[in-house]
Amino acid sequence: MSQRISILPETLTNKIAAGEVVERPASVIKELIENSLDAGATEISVEISAGGRRKICVTDNGHGMSREDALLSLERHATSKIKVDSDLESILTLGFRGEALPSIASVSRFSLTTRETGSLEGSEIIIEGGKVRDVRACGMPTGTVICVEQLFFNLPARLKFLKSAETETGHVGDVVARMAVSRPDVSFTCTSDGRELLRLQQSDLQRRLAQVVGRESSQHLYPVTGGGEYATISGFISAPSLVRSGTQAIFTYINGRFIRDKVVQHAVMQAYRGVIDRGRYPVVALFIKLPPGEVDVNVHPTKHEVRFRRQSVVHDALQGAVEEVLSRSPWLPSPSMANSIPKETTGQAYRERIAAAAQASLAMPTRERVFPQQFPVTGEPSGVPSRPHETVREPVTPFEAEPPHSPPQATGYFSSLAVIGQFHSEYILCQSDTELVVIDQHAASERVAYQRLKQQCQSGSIESQRLLFPETIELSFSEVAVAVRFNADLAGIGFELEPFGGTTLMVSAAPRIVARKNPLLLIRDILADLMSFGTSAAFTDALDGLLSRIACHSVIRGVHLLDNRQIKELLQQMDQTDFAASCPHGRPVSHVVTLAELQKIFKRT
Ligand code: ADP
Ligand code: MG
Repeated sequence: MSQRISILPETLTNKIAAGEVVERPASVIKELIENSLDAGATEISVEISAGGRRKICVTDNGHGMSREDALLSLERHATSKIKVDSDLESILTLGFRGEALPSIASVSRFSLTTRETGSLEGSEIIIEGGKVRDVRACGMPTGTVICVEQLFFNLPARLKFLKSAETETGHVGDVVARMAVSRPDVSFTCTSDGRELLRLQQSDLQRRLAQVVGRESSQHLYPVTGGGEYATISGFISAPSLVRSGTQAIFTYINGRFIRDKVVQHAVMQAYRGVIDRGRYPVVALFIKLPPGEVDVNVHPTKHEVRFRRQSVVHDALQGAVEEVLSRSPWLPSPSMANSIPKETTGQAYRERIAAAAQASLAMPTRERVFPQQFPVTGEPSGVPSRPHETVREPVTPFEAEPPHSPPQATGYFSSLAVIGQFHSEYILCQSDTELVVIDQHAASERVAYQRLKQQCQSGSIESQRLLFPETIELSFSEVAVAVRFNADLAGIGFELEPFGGTTLMVSAAPRIVARKNPLLLIRDILADLMSFGTSAAFTDALDGLLSRIACHSVIRGVHLLDNRQIKELLQQMDQTDFAASCPHGRPVSHVVTLAELQKIFKRT
């Protein structure tokens, strides 16, 4: 009889658990901050070096641990947060699995220093790759300091997957920001290689949000309160003018725990349906409170996913609460207008009205729309001077791809066509001999812009234009990290970007064809594109997609009345462009209807 099966040693099981809980420095920090908050800390400081790859230190002023507890805390499944089965039904702490500390300690050089309230001295425990090396007494204030050095030093496969220091720093900043939003009553600092990323004093949610999403953005946030006895909803949501290119500014919390949940996100996006464009996401910080037994947080070791007992009730409560604020249209241009509108919470009429309000605000002459601040978030001074928002916007012309000194008039197929006129302000109708040529004006101008950008790119760099006033853009830490990483490449396609402290970036130049449009939204899109590419892909892999993005932003979408001169200009530009190359979105640009086809329709043949 052979024995094939054996129980794994604990150092190995801890390493396996670490595989799930500890993905990167930011996940270590999330676990450590959760522990600090569970320990009642009111001050938490995070220090990292080399993006947390070299060192992570989290210090708190919580209740600390006795030496016995500190030693126990490093054992697998050791927790002070639950005791019996039924406790799983009523979890009010962020932790409960008793896995984080032993997992982290098994894949790093780890030290835990802690002093319990009322104790005369602290204890320091040194662990290397899961093995206790030293336990000694030390002097320290009440609280706990955990330092994690050389994460994954004994797990080369994982180490390989860590990204550059900037990228990891970006993730760390985002995690701290996310947790800081959940507890404005706790002060947080975060420094990276001695540089301060965040310094957040104890305050209220409004001020905390202003510091995390940016002061400018926070002025477009509106409070939400709603739900019923079962699920209460509170927090802030953005006006439709304040959008992001991804979900990074959707902060959602269940019973104080940050979560990424499909049901919750769906409810938010449903409320914004028809109010913001597809592919755009609002800025929200929403807190859902439920009886603890109604939500299962024990779904995944990272506890980012949850399961609701009554999913649709939570979904509808959330959607309703967000819609209720949107329906009040606090961003309508004049208060009198806002008052005259009856309160409706759902339905088409409400969407149409909001869409109209958003449209009206888009038509305002300044680049950044300014909304009346009925209940704006007031930010603490963040040291970022606010950008002059009187940026004078020049009248919009549909096709600005033409350089100032246009090359000699081209002759070619499109220029030779006789223009009949425009149909539905979307299509250009032309004729040649026996053909009726229908041109999709938007597709054509986008393609012209794309091809021109490609040519410029091949012959060196894309024409850049300085903005009248440098503008600032508020991003997430990860987005800033991407911008820094690809700064030189982005300069090659016409952008001049510079970190401006915290999560703000200064934009001083943009590709010429978009410089007079709204380059900020374009930058968000480009950073989102680059982020999804990850680090292994070179910038050049993303380049065609980015050029097509720029082209797309350079032209006006939808119906647009053109005069004869503008039509002629576009036709000429089409001839100057290499149309043989593939078009950015693969849509046809023109369609020919022959005389013979028409005659067939009219039964003339
Ligand atoms: P969990 O948080 O799921 O209980 P952890 O492995 O994260 O598991 O932590 C184990 C235990 O160590 C916790 O239950 C808690 O009692 C203690 N502990 C961890 N970090 C701290 C801290 N910063 N302050 C006080 N106690 C802590
Ligand atoms: Mg924990």
